Amino acid sequence: MSNLYDLLEPLKDNPGKTGIFSDLDGTLSEIAPTPADAIITDEMRSIVKDLAEKYAVVGIVSGRDSNEAKKIVGLDNIVYIGNHGLEWLDDGKQFYAPEAFNFFGLASSLAADLVAILNGSDLIVEKKKLGVAIHYRQADDKGLAKASIEQTIKPFLEKYPLKSFEGRYVIELKPDLAVNKGDAVAVVALRRGLMQAIYLGDDITDVDAFKAFKDLRDKGKVETISIGVASDEGDPSIISEADYIVKNVGEVEALLNWLSD
Ligand SMILES: [Mg+2]
Repeated sequence: MSNLYDLLEPLKDNPGKTGIFSDLDGTLSEIAPTPADAIITDEMRSIVKDLAEKYAVVGIVSGRDSNEAKKIVGLDNIVYIGNHGLEWLDDGKQFYAPEAFNFFGLASSLAADLVAILNGSDLIVEKKKLGVAIHYRQADDKGLAKASIEQTIKPFLEKYPLKSFEGRYVIELKPDLAVNKGDAVAVVALRRGLMQAIYLGDDITDVDAFKAFKDLRDKGKVETISIGVASDEGDPSIISEADYIVKNVGEVEALLNWLSD
């Protein structure tokens, strides 16, 4: 870890040209039993607030709707990137990736259909602006729950331009578009003229951001460092694709606290 802190010294020394990007659930906050229960601690909120005052950009990057992420974090002066990069809130204004506009109606009817089908089960259907997440953390038999979700979404995947992916006890349906967390953070980093940036994340969709950050570094555009948060639930690529690994949300907090100093 001391190695990572040494590497981060130059970012601390030049905050005006540095961006701090982080996933929310499982990175800034412990994963909650249900998505509605997620909170960030007062300590973490205060650290993120300090970071936003010090650094050029603080970006919170989530699969949730950006306004949901903002509600949980409760801070202004942050770029909230939601729906895995398809929309974002910057300076209180809502933006969408142009490709996203065709999907508003579909996302809404899809959620209604899935709620109707899965009503009464121990699955939680999270309706988002641009997709649906089905959470099975609460299911007694997780293997069975996962199989049942896969069965349920199959006809939707066949019928509509959607893709699915698995996260930590969640299966998501989102528009089949080539836009991900990595595209979104790369755009923000380049537009803001950052020289250096870090990204922290704990799940499979964060690996897109790790890859985008590596690409920015390889091309000499931004000095980047990606940091994965280890868990028993995450895909192995989180460990293999990140530049550094921290053990848990506690270590994320320690790192960000040091950066905020
Ligand atoms: Mg996460």
